[in-house]
Amino acid sequence: MATTPSVSENLLAKYETVIGLEVHVQLLTESKIFCSCSTRFGDPPNTNVCPVCLGLPGALPVLNRKAVEFATLAAMALQCRINEVSIFARKNYFYPDLPKGYQISQYDKPLAEFGFIEIDVNENQAGSNKKIGITRLHLEEDAGKSLHEGFADSAHKTAIDLNRTGVPLAEIVSEPDMRSPEEAYEYLTRLKEIILYTGVSDCNMEEGSLRCDANISVRPRGQIEFGTKTEIKNVNSFRFIKQALEYEIERHVEILEGGGRITQETRLYNSHEGKTYGMRSKEQAHDYRYFPEPDLLPLVVDEKWQAAIRASLPELPEARRRRMIKEHGITAGDAHTLTLTRALADQFESAARAAKNPKRVANLVQSELLGRLKAQSLELDQSPISMAGVTLSADLVESGAISSKMLKDLYDLSFERKQDFPAVYEAEGRPEQSRDTSALEKLADELIAANPKQVEQYRAGKKTMIGFFVGQVMKASKGQANPQLVNDVLTKKLEG
Ligand code: ADP
Ligand code: MG
Ligand code: ZN
Repeated sequence: MATTPSVSENLLAKYETVIGLEVHVQLLTESKIFCSCSTRFGDPPNTNVCPVCLGLPGALPVLNRKAVEFATLAAMALQCRINEVSIFARKNYFYPDLPKGYQISQYDKPLAEFGFIEIDVNENQAGSNKKIGITRLHLEEDAGKSLHEGFADSAHKTAIDLNRTGVPLAEIVSEPDMRSPEEAYEYLTRLKEIILYTGVSDCNMEEGSLRCDANISVRPRGQIEFGTKTEIKNVNSFRFIKQALEYEIERHVEILEGGGRITQETRLYNSHEGKTYGMRSKEQAHDYRYFPEPDLLPLVVDEKWQAAIRASLPELPEARRRRMIKEHGITAGDAHTLTLTRALADQFESAARAAKNPKRVANLVQSELLGRLKAQSLELDQSPISMAGVTLSADLVESGAISSKMLKDLYDLSFERKQDFPAVYEAEGRPEQSRDTSALEKLADELIAANPKQVEQYRAGKKTMIGFFVGQVMKASKGQANPQLVNDVLTKKLEG
């Protein structure tokens, strides 16, 4: 729910917005970052714990190699420079779900720095890309979870689940490069897409595997120094982050226009009310007293290891879209839809390469396949029609063996029977669209007689007029006629 603007557009236009985002991504390792406990989500509380992740005295952390590889892979996908040596540090603070009293993170020597994400700032204009800088990507451990519901006496008590302590996270900090909530939304969308392509996280916001803190300030247009920022924490969807930022811009402008000053603080967003509330101000803010973690050696990711990790880097979405447009002759819009997930892009491309006309495959996948999957709330891997089925059906339409209308009917049967297209096509006795021209010729004769003006125009050289007649015949045949055949019959009649 968004609130109605209390600040006029004119006042808002006097200010420029500055946004920087801090995103935590949970890395999909099977075990935790410093012990061998499972990271599985949803297990009974406090069942995946050991002296290390409980922070018992004397327990020593041992770094999970896979967590390092996943974080490094993510950093490479975000175009970061990998630091060959990085240092773990203790970030000290008291919180009930942090049993050690400190979190192991990285501070002045993070795993990676100087990356960027390209965002599209104007969808209607190709190539209107903007680079948003990534300051750093570092490794850290997650804290536990405080539970406020779902157990006896939850009205009076808070319970703590420590299954999540020690789950590996990559924290990705952006430069204050975004200038609107839309840009922040676009950055998050692209970031999530890239991380999903690398496969190091499932970025599931409901389960907390992707969390975002948004920093925002405003400044009068033309001013070089940034304004004082506030930080919005724990918002659980990209859409709410955008709404929270929109609300916060107005709040800042209203205060500044009233002669007031912004207090640097952390705020929470209430999505039901569409408002943010102060949580803690900078005066109460923590001094984390960072110092190097004495129980862990510096992390060394040398050139050889980096090269091995880089070898597993997949083609990234933006590059893939560009290549697909060129290679398959599809539009930017097609490429956008067909790369929404890596699995979809992989499957589309295998079908596109096997089929006679890749553009037809792109159209079929988007209009016939994805539409039906969505209508039945099915995922791509639950589709009754395989990509081999898509290829065959595309080729049948391409050669004129079946009409588009027949293809739609066969797809409907596939979904009804939960059978792949080739099986349904066989079961239906390899139907073919009619090549009998007598009915078509009769239709053509009638049309020609009924539209003397259009015939005259055609015969005077306006050859595009054929489209009018083809359209009429297709309409009369309810889309059943073979367009190529219709074209041939009409051309013969009109020329004759
Ligand atoms: P802090 O020490 O308060 O955490 P940092 O300098 O580490 O602040 O920045 C945290 C995040 O806030 C980064 O993503 C950064 O881009 C962003 N940021 C910093 N200053 C501003 C500002 N004035 N307005 C908006 N975002 C900012
Ligand atoms: Mg911060
Ligand atoms: Zn453990």
